[in-house]
Amino acid sequence: PGKVEFRDVHFSYDPNRKILKGVSFEVPAGKTVAIVGPSGAGKSTISRLLFRFYDVQRGQVLIDGQDIRDVTQESLRAVLGMVPQDTVLFNDTIAYNIRYGRVGASEDEVRKAAELAQIGPFIDKLPEGYRSMVGERGLKLSGGEKQRVAIARTILKAPPILMLDEATSALDTQTEQEIQAALDLVSKGRTTIVIAHRLSTVISADEIIVLKDGQIAERGTHAALLAKH
Ligand code: ADP
Ligand code: ADP
Repeated sequence: PGKVEFRDVHFSYDPNRKILKGVSFEVPAGKTVAIVGPSGAGKSTISRLLFRFYDVQRGQVLIDGQDIRDVTQESLRAVLGMVPQDTVLFNDTIAYNIRYGRVGASEDEVRKAAELAQIGPFIDKLPEGYRSMVGERGLKLSGGEKQRVAIARTILKAPPILMLDEATSALDTQTEQEIQAALDLVSKGRTTIVIAHRLSTVISADEIIVLKDGQIAERGTHAALLAKH
């Protein structure tokens, strides 16, 4: 299970300005589609519509053939996972922040997810800005490290459908490669939509959609798109 479909989706935040103007694509269960395009094209809006932060004004978003407006928020959230670009952490240990992905998870499962996401050594620490009851200060995590916490959380949750928002921020090459490896790990075998900022990070996507000004300007595999340019 886990097929995602956008059918002729139209959306605007305010009536005077159309953001998505008839966007249609399909992500077969277990496949990866990358959405690339300039800033402001409407990429994050697609993510917000899938999570029903907003509803489409025309067209449909479907999961396994069912309009997502016909399912409860709980069941929608149960099948969706998100690795956002900027992860906000709770005022509790990194382990707690990871366990949030699946509240019933054992300590062992949390540790294993943390190790896979390469955040293992930090699990007993608190995030920056917080202080433990014995006065220990929180740890300053880099953007990449916070994203790894989100990856560990998602490894634990193991949702059939995954939304990845790749970091635009200036991660160093080493960190970027590590994060890419962890993202590849978490998306393996799941329906995945990647919001990408560079074509080079989505070479292995089954399809790449180039979004421009709220419309699909081009689509194809990485090789096919490169051949055209
Ligand atoms: P992208 O992810 O491709 O950079 P977005 O989907 O975030 O683009 O945004 C598309 C357009 O919608 C942008 O011009 C943005 O300014 C506008 N937009 C995004 N969120 C809102 C909002 N909450 N209210 C009004 N306009 C918004
Ligand atoms: P949960 O598994 O608890 O339901 P989600 O996987 O839905 O959590 O989301 C994880 C985090 O990412 C939350 O903090 C949520 O607010 C944020 N988030 C989820 N979807 C989006 C989105 N489409 N755009 C921006 N942030 C999102």
